[in-house]
Amino acid sequence: MTPTITLNDGVRIPQLGFGVFQIDPARTADKVKAALEIGYRHIDTAQMYGNEEGVGKAIADSGIARDELFVTTKLNNDGHGRDEALKRLEESLDRLGLEFVDLYLIHWPQPELDRYVETWEGLEDAKKEGRTRSIGVSNFHPQHLDRLAAETSTVPSINQIELHPHLSQAALREYHHNHGIATEAWSPIGQGKGLLEESTITDIAQRVGKTPAQVVLAWHLHHGNIVFPKSNTVSRIQENFQIFDVELGGDDIAAIDRMNADQRIGPNPENFG
Ligand code: NAD
Repeated sequence: MTPTITLNDGVRIPQLGFGVFQIDPARTADKVKAALEIGYRHIDTAQMYGNEEGVGKAIADSGIARDELFVTTKLNNDGHGRDEALKRLEESLDRLGLEFVDLYLIHWPQPELDRYVETWEGLEDAKKEGRTRSIGVSNFHPQHLDRLAAETSTVPSINQIELHPHLSQAALREYHHNHGIATEAWSPIGQGKGLLEESTITDIAQRVGKTPAQVVLAWHLHHGNIVFPKSNTVSRIQENFQIFDVELGGDDIAAIDRMNADQRIGPNPENFG
């Protein structure tokens, strides 16, 4: 069983899921089917990924009870605004074939557009109407979260941020910890490039008898992060699910912590969208 984390609204989320960014919409149903067969019960998609229908098809075909699944989707950047946020969720639900999602996120804050506060009120409405069990944000910085705290009545349950050993986000994680916000790590294995070949990771992997990806994912679990690595390859989808018996010592965690270089793969949220 995948461990769960209890969010600030009481909703429980599996700490490991399957991410579907950059999975071809035509192949998404097959990949999600494989993940569900392996045992994943948490799927992370977004309007932006264009593959919600595939996620929905795999879920419908699986026969798995709805309350055993945790489905996240995210509001697209061109959908900011209170009413628009709700309308976009309805469209996502149609594509997913679901009555509700478990988590709805504002994908990017778009500070220059400056509509994320009213958009957040739309997410609050969506939760009240039962169209999502929990609401959160993605790619928010402390100043954006501070504004939500000052101007609205709900603290996001989650902030989904770029986070991997090259960008360990210590300050933002501490902010989350102090404000009851759970941390989701996107690109948790650094999109598989470079990072997994670095000797700090490969040496530990060799010693503990696990793969580099499993070591990095176990490092996330140690820090309490929620992860959803993506892969198109069934053997890797399987490998990424076998991370709960990885035994990392305190020295291993400290060595991986020291790999931080404040190095982003994706855009800076201050000027994206
Ligand atoms: P990731 O860190 O999960 O890396 C995925 C890549 O790593 C794969 O394409 C593959 O090339 C490689 N890989 C996967 N498993 C491997 C293994 N066991 N061994 C070696 N290589 C392996 O990157 P990601 O897909 O960018 O991030 C994961 C998920 O996070 C996404 O699918 C999406 O759901 C979410 N995400 C969210 C945002 C956001 O703005 N909120 C942005 C990017 C991603």
